[in-house]
Amino acid sequence: MARILLVDDSASARALLGVRLRDKGHEVEEVAHAADAAEIALSKPPDAVVTDLWMPGISGLQLCRLLRAEPATSTVPVVLLTASDDRRSRFWARHAGATAYVTKTEIDRLTDVLGDLTSSPKTRPPPAPSSPNPQVVTRGNVQERLSQLLDASLFESTIAGEVRALSQKAEELEQLFADLSALACDVAGYRWLALKTDSAPAPPVKYTTRLFIHTTPDLKEAAEREARDALDVAPPPERRKPDEGDAFIIADKRAVDAEWSSPPIVLPVKFGTVPMGHIAFGPSRRGASNDDRRLIQMMANELGGPLRMAALVAEARRLASTDTLTGLLNRRAFVERIEKARAASDKQLFPISMLLLDVDHFKKVNDTLGHDAGDAVLQGVARVLLSIARKSDFVARWGGEEFVLCLTSTAEAGGRIAAERVRRAIADARYELPNGTEHRATASVGLASAENAAWDIHDLIGRADKAMYSAKHRGRNRVETA
Ligand code: GH3
Ligand code: MG
Ligand code: MG
Repeated sequence: MARILLVDDSASARALLGVRLRDKGHEVEEVAHAADAAEIALSKPPDAVVTDLWMPGISGLQLCRLLRAEPATSTVPVVLLTASDDRRSRFWARHAGATAYVTKTEIDRLTDVLGDLTSSPKTRPPPAPSSPNPQVVTRGNVQERLSQLLDASLFESTIAGEVRALSQKAEELEQLFADLSALACDVAGYRWLALKTDSAPAPPVKYTTRLFIHTTPDLKEAAEREARDALDVAPPPERRKPDEGDAFIIADKRAVDAEWSSPPIVLPVKFGTVPMGHIAFGPSRRGASNDDRRLIQMMANELGGPLRMAALVAEARRLASTDTLTGLLNRRAFVERIEKARAASDKQLFPISMLLLDVDHFKKVNDTLGHDAGDAVLQGVARVLLSIARKSDFVARWGGEEFVLCLTSTAEAGGRIAAERVRRAIADARYELPNGTEHRATASVGLASAENAAWDIHDLIGRADKAMYSAKHRGRNRVETA
């Protein structure tokens, strides 16, 4: 038998539960108000507290926080009861330090939970950190302390902690935003939530403007339009590459599907004094609640660190995979990207053709015009290759004056045409040198195409390399096929 304090503002709910718990042999004390419950629990801690989650005045969550924070009751199990099983209740129950969370439709589970809790004291949670200034709680200051705990501790510390924690696991902006929106829609209902990262020059990282939106599938287009409007991000011009300026949109059923919204809330996000971006909140039909406003304010306050962290990680990754002279992928990243694309969807790559090209008599450029001139020629060749490669192709500096171009969905016949186009483009280009003069260059190109779907990237490159050498032997500035 256990002494249970039962707290619910509804007399009928109390009566119903009281009977069930007494049937199980428990001693039940019924209370209608959380303030009374707090006073009783603190003066004579019960074996467990069962409380309604949402009650007018002081809620079950506030009561739970108070009991956790007071030394006398910090280990008393608290079971939160709700009428419905919604995400918001779950989120707050988790963060208030409740021992268990049970819906009123599963009363049998409540009696099981209580049986477990009161028979094994070991299942009690560890005591919560004690309140900063423990003092004897009297009836007069309970109400005041409870609201302090809710305002200062529960809401703000919880949201701030959750947002700050994003920087520990979210290394990519997409993941960061996915985690942020998962948190936001646990706490608030909205039509859309959007984040814009600024293009502020903050050495060593130059941030780029990107737009992230979370909304429901039905509202995708409207939400994108409204978020662009609120955050002043123009839609990508028609003829830009498809991913430039595109919004990253998460559309799922967690956001609220409202036909119209009240004006969005837009707040700046900073890291110290450095502007990092803006966060925007498209309220649901009923408009933004005070909790919504506090949520968005907390997110704006705390998001600067995680955003900066994600930008630094992205920059470090970019540097690790980029050739500094030409800006192309380096050898390792080239192989990695192709293997990754293949793992994601083999069909999109095969048939595949590989071009390996080597600039002809390049040593002479260095020897006669200087190393800087050589560098300029290499940068020029990289530009030529980028201008020819499609979005689905992979281009890299293989090393020295050697480059590779991996053509996806391209069989040998198409590969020959592309290789010839590359050879001619390199020969036709004018390479501007640092001294203001122009230089001409040629390259020898080796082509290898995959014969079957079980291709191997190193085998392809090896064959292309041999073909390139035979192009050198046959007079340079030409294409040979493996
Ligand atoms: P071939 O037509 O047979 O390819 O003759 P080549 O002179 O191009 O070949 P070789 O391999 O003898 O010379 C390549 C030169 O490229 C040697 C090396 O110093 C130079 N090189 C490699 N990397 C760089 C670079 O980053 N910048 C500059 N300027 N030169 C480089
Ligand atoms: Mg070479
Ligand atoms: Mg060479």
